[in-house]
Amino acid sequence: MALEVARSMRSVLGANGISLEHPVFRHMVNLESVFTYEGTHEIHTLVVGNDITGLSAYTG
Ligand SMILES: Cc1cc2nc3c(=O)[nH]c(=O)nc-3n(C[C@H](O)[C@H](O)[C@H](O)COP(=O)(O)OP(=O)(O)OC[C@H]3O[C@@H](n4cnc5c(N)ncnc54)[C@H](O)[C@@H]3O)c2cc1C
Repeated sequence: MALEVARSMRSVLGANGISLEHPVFRHMVNLESVFTYEGTHEIHTLVVGNDITGLSAYTG
């Protein structure tokens, strides 16, 4: 949700949303990293799927 808000704000600011004058883009990048650190979103999905179904959709 926070990422969605940051993206909306970037859009509201137009080209200024990409400039260093406003911190919106920095927040977007910080929030985007949550999908990767401490395990990627995809791997978490596979682990939860395995736990719920007992079936593994991945190897390694
Ligand atoms: C801001 C930030 C802070 C971090 N801090 C730390 C930290 O403090 N300590 C630390 O140890 N690490 C840290 N990391 C590293 C982070 O934990 C790893 O980047 C993350 O676990 C993903 O590993 P990887 O980058 O090697 O991607 P990879 O494992 O190479 O994955 C690449 C892509 O392939 C997908 N993928 C991989 N394997 C499979 C599979 N079997 N099936 C399907 N898809 C697969 C992934 O979902 C991903 O989309 C940090 C990363 C970031 C971005």
